[in-house]
Amino acid sequence: AITEEEDDENDLVPRAPIVTVMGHVDHGKTSLLDHIRNTNVIAGEAGGITQHIGAYNVTLADGRKITFLDTPGHEAFTAMRARGAQVTDIAIIIISADDSVMPTTREAIAHAQAANVPMVFAINKIDKPGANPDKIREDLANMNLLVEEWGGKYQCQEISAKKGIGVDDLLEKVLLEAEMLDLKANPNRKATGSIIESSLDKGRGYVSTVLVSNGTLRVGDNVIAGTSYGRIKAMFNERNQRIEKASPAEPAIILGLNGAPTAGDTFHVLETEQEAREIANKRLQLQREQGLRTQKR
Ligand code: GDP
Repeated sequence: AITEEEDDENDLVPRAPIVTVMGHVDHGKTSLLDHIRNTNVIAGEAGGITQHIGAYNVTLADGRKITFLDTPGHEAFTAMRARGAQVTDIAIIIISADDSVMPTTREAIAHAQAANVPMVFAINKIDKPGANPDKIREDLANMNLLVEEWGGKYQCQEISAKKGIGVDDLLEKVLLEAEMLDLKANPNRKATGSIIESSLDKGRGYVSTVLVSNGTLRVGDNVIAGTSYGRIKAMFNERNQRIEKASPAEPAIILGLNGAPTAGDTFHVLETEQEAREIANKRLQLQREQGLRTQKR
């Protein structure tokens, strides 16, 4: 294992919260993420985020930032957590006001609670004639989750992801939650973070989306992730623009690894490519030995 040095308190600076949206299928997760992605385009930036990417950073009008993880379903959340990556700071649990708290909603809540990740509830589709947000608040109360407007501790916002109603207020509540977490990181060290997704691109080779949790990731860094390693040849942001570095809580698309690490793998930056190769080879050998042992059983 790679040991990381503790950060000096003086080196820590505030970082953006990393937020995951979870909920039952059709309750509006995609609509909400699309709305946020499309409305929070930094002034002067050419174009929005057109490609699908597993993580993106939005800047609000007042300059505050939020990083959204857009992984398919909460399976990814669980898988990442199982691999030791606590990537999410805050979970938005989205529930449709014309439906009920569904089994998947309960699962999402259970996952967030198990991971000790604070939740903000979004009651969606309030524009629909059949919407009954009180029914949702009641469902939640029956699960011992009392929302603030009913005297409880959970922040809750009625929204229409489709029409964009209440979304700014929802983000405000997310940022309030983030403030209480006092999230900080040290940009003046070699980067560590998580793999969000990886693929093999015909023209560009192995491409990984990573999320920096601490330190600053730079072009030219020697990275190890799982059993893959390599020197970063180029980095891009969610707008497909070339970038030279990524700070804490910022996602980056990196080129230069010799494989496709699994979502949830942590990555580290090492001094030399040789160090990275040696660790990768040790991990490969360990995997093979474990494979042999399982075969014998
Ligand atoms: P997901 O499966 O949770 O990602 O849900 P989607 O975002 O794909 O939404 C499912 C369906 O609900 C789509 O047909 C959306 O257009 C619709 N929908 C989502 N949000 C709203 C909303 O706020 N109001 C209304 N009327 N429809 C919505």
